[in-house]
Amino acid sequence: MQCPECGGTHIRKNGKKKGKQNHICVACGRQFIDRYEPQRGYPDDVKRNCLRQYVNGTGFRAIERITGVHHTTIITWVKQVGELLPDAYAPGRC
Ligand SMILES: [Zn+2]
Repeated sequence: MQCPECGGTHIRKNGKKKGKQNHICVACGRQFIDRYEPQRGYPDDVKRNCLRQYVNGTGFRAIERITGVHHTTIITWVKQVGELLPDAYAPGRC
């Protein structure tokens, strides 16, 4: 659990809101509920950048070298996007 405002980890429980546990950051006083977990995964622009390189014919491992994103993560993204755009993408050419 991390404060979305200051990133502090000194968090206290602060009652419940609409059935969800409310928390308060001791450092800055920011209140937030459970779903404010630290962001997992990569931002959208990183994802788009990787997918664009993939579409341009760059291999997964080359993209990994360029962007630092693990190639299995990129394959997952390609498969996700491939389900939306089956004609434009060809997942599985790994
Ligand atoms: Zn804070």
